Amino acid sequence: MTKRDYKYSENVSSAVDIDGIKFSKSEDYGIYVHIPFCRSKCSYCAFCSTTELGLQNAYIDALEKEILSFGRIDKLTADTVYIGGGTPSCLYDGAITRIFEALGKAFNISKNAEITVEMNPESCTRELLTECRSCGVNRVSMGMQSADDGVLRAVNRIHDFKTYLSAIELLKAENFDNISTDFILGLPNQTVADIEKCIEVAGAHCSHVSVYALTVEEGTPLYLSEYRPDDDIVADMYDLACERLQENGFIRYEVSNFAKNGRVSRHNSKYWRCVPYLGLGVAAHGYDGDRIRYSHTTDIKAYIGGAAVEVTQLTDKDMYNEYIMLGLRTSGGISREAFKARFGCTLDERAGNNLSLLVRHGLLIDDGASVRISHNKLFVMNGIIEDLMI
Ligand code: SF4
Repeated sequence: MTKRDYKYSENVSSAVDIDGIKFSKSEDYGIYVHIPFCRSKCSYCAFCSTTELGLQNAYIDALEKEILSFGRIDKLTADTVYIGGGTPSCLYDGAITRIFEALGKAFNISKNAEITVEMNPESCTRELLTECRSCGVNRVSMGMQSADDGVLRAVNRIHDFKTYLSAIELLKAENFDNISTDFILGLPNQTVADIEKCIEVAGAHCSHVSVYALTVEEGTPLYLSEYRPDDDIVADMYDLACERLQENGFIRYEVSNFAKNGRVSRHNSKYWRCVPYLGLGVAAHGYDGDRIRYSHTTDIKAYIGGAAVEVTQLTDKDMYNEYIMLGLRTSGGISREAFKARFGCTLDERAGNNLSLLVRHGLLIDDGASVRISHNKLFVMNGIIEDLMI
């Protein structure tokens, strides 16, 4: 563990050096900022979030300090910024502005940067959208989760479907045309009709959709209630969602993500391509694009107190396994040329016989230039990936 006291080397001509992590200046970075506040806690939630909204001022102070520490001597360039949570839209008026002012001082934000803020329907207001617009936000991710009020209530969401629709109308009235939404498969009381309605609404209003199968994390109220989704039903829902989203013009570009008109999430794509990104705020993770990953404490008060960045040095094996695991999540799969450029050997040399075996069994598609998981096998991709890992 190293204390969060970023030091900059005097020689910063080609890299910014943060506690020994060298962030190359020749790369365009993604910046993720975590906002750990929510107005209430959903029963399935295992994310780092709190309903203690009184901590917001102290948290934004600490976050601002962390952001500004990146710009003390030299600036990295960022071409994506993602403010996620938690619920960024429940921050106090002016907090988003403070974050973006600090980001603007510490980084060069590209003119064509993709700048996303996550919102929940109940806290999406005209004033917030005006504030976001003036900060350069050009993409909003609006949480839907379900289109059925009974399902939403069952997992303690505080919005209802009507509020979701009003929030989407407000976004459109305020000229936000790059809207992402997300919903979950396998929630209590959920039916196929709910999935169909989610897709109908997303098809009418959104250019990007994320679809997640519910994971019941240990320790959450949903776990303690002993509710468990039926895997077969969730698999059927997933197939249906993929089919209907495609009928509505969405293309699946990652196992859980679908985009219309090429509006893929440029920020999230950085994670799957193993390129560098910075994680700012409690529980946020960063990567130098090479051998170093770092993570912040998940304790909000400890973060406010200025504590602890944990740095992990990846081995050759870690780097290979991560590259396989992340690359095969995408519809493009793993490019042989990119693999060789990164690892200095061919994918075939590294993966061994299992690669050709998986291709022969129809689990992987090999077009010569790249290798990817067959579309109808993405739901069971974990087993395929494990076979390729070392
Ligand atoms: S809104 Fe998101 S982060 Fe907040 S409690 Fe619900 S699931 Fe968790």
